[in-house]
Amino acid sequence: MPMMYQSTRDQENKVTASQAILQGLAADGGLFTPVSFPKLALSFNKLKDESYQSIAKLVLSAFFDDFTEDEIEYCISSAYDNKFDTSLIAPVVSLTDSHHLELFHGTTIAFKDMALSILPYLLTTAAKKQSVEQKIVILTATSGDTGKAAMAGFADVPGTEIIVFYPHAGVSKIQELQMTTQVGGNTQVVAIEGNFDDAQADVKRMFNDPVLAQKLAARGMQLSSANSMNIGRLIPQVVYYIYAYAQLVKAGRIEAGQNINITVPTGNFGNILAAYYAKKIGLPVAKFICASNENKVLTDFFTSGIYDKKRSFKVTTSPSMDILVSSNLERLVFHLVGDNAEKTKCLMGALTRNGSYELKDSDETIFSQFVAGFATEAETAAEIKRVFELDDYVMDPHTAVASAVYQSYRHETRDDTPTLIASTASPYKFPSVVVEAITGEPVADDFEAVSQLKQLSHVVQPKAVIGLQNATVRHRLLVKTADMQTAVEDYLGL
Ligand SMILES: *Cc1c(COP(=O)(O)O)cnc(C)c1O
Repeated sequence: MPMMYQSTRDQENKVTASQAILQGLAADGGLFTPVSFPKLALSFNKLKDESYQSIAKLVLSAFFDDFTEDEIEYCISSAYDNKFDTSLIAPVVSLTDSHHLELFHGTTIAFKDMALSILPYLLTTAAKKQSVEQKIVILTATSGDTGKAAMAGFADVPGTEIIVFYPHAGVSKIQELQMTTQVGGNTQVVAIEGNFDDAQADVKRMFNDPVLAQKLAARGMQLSSANSMNIGRLIPQVVYYIYAYAQLVKAGRIEAGQNINITVPTGNFGNILAAYYAKKIGLPVAKFICASNENKVLTDFFTSGIYDKKRSFKVTTSPSMDILVSSNLERLVFHLVGDNAEKTKCLMGALTRNGSYELKDSDETIFSQFVAGFATEAETAAEIKRVFELDDYVMDPHTAVASAVYQSYRHETRDDTPTLIASTASPYKFPSVVVEAITGEPVADDFEAVSQLKQLSHVVQPKAVIGLQNATVRHRLLVKTADMQTAVEDYLGL
């Protein structure tokens, strides 16, 4: 029997890994989620000498067990190659009081590359396995980083089209240029007059629109998702937590088997959920520290058990975390209510109808593993400066949110468990914010900031930023949220 993935909203909707990857989102609106987890005997004294690719093979073959060994190897070697600027793929840097897992060494210098460089291969391989002849259309809403990383992964991959929506006023200049200069005959970028939640809500709606599905089918196309709702994105993220732990053992920072804490700057709840799944397959973790910016809906959820999106949306300096509806939380909620699809569906219904839900009778053994906190804009900037002065290490604002939240957690609890911080973007992706935080002086623009950052840090300027200033803008479409579907239909000629 292969491993099955069940929709969080319908117990009868169970599919294999390749089907789950291909569908992206379940037709009932739920997310495909493992109900049982593979048991891996993780021997870190051995794993410490393994490459990223070989740990990826271990984890991915366990979760995607209807893929052949050759298929898994093909996907891994196509994804984790010299697109990354280090052969370690995800290096761990130890600072005075935490260890940073640097997830920004891929094409677009943010952690989305970790999963989005492999997803196109998983998806096209899954399509072949399922004898799907249709063209796969990827629709993605992005708060800034996913869109570019998805396009970089899918650009000119045969049999695919990719359409990305981003909030016009909600991304950094560098993020916007990265997207609007994207090449590839199968890529389309659409700015919307709305925020990320608006974009994500309408993408979800399109996925569940039977009329649109028919129109697409008539043209030999079907939708799939590159958002972190796709299990094909989530599971590759489990890999780096296992790898990081092995690196810490190798460096003598921890003993094999010793508990660590993991702090994750969180938006859609994908990255931190992957850490939780890593624990489910044997990673020794005590606490998952969920760090938010001023959009602190998750902090409130973990403190009160109430998820309430009815609040004003704030645009912050960590835009990839400016989210009020964290899609992947649905998977944790499903586990918290005892893998009960009926109950999960009810709660998610309440969220759509009333903008909130209250978790009752949740599994305390799971809930208590999560700690949550948030950092204000001022605290985030101060943390960038503090760590720069203490460790001569430059963090991007998302990572700084995590670092600040971890510092307050440590001061409040005196918990000195070795802690891994997921470092999710290169400082070069948000150069103005970083330089202003360190120098206290405003900078003219991102490009001026890049040159200052080169002086300040020991980090060489990534390829992703070089040349961006003079690249040709190829995408200029700006639409109202209500017109997103029209933009899709126009582009695909439906
Ligand atoms: C997407 C993103 C996050 C949030 O990750 P989630 O998996 O959505 O919680 C944090 N930091 C950066 C830089 C990101 O791009």
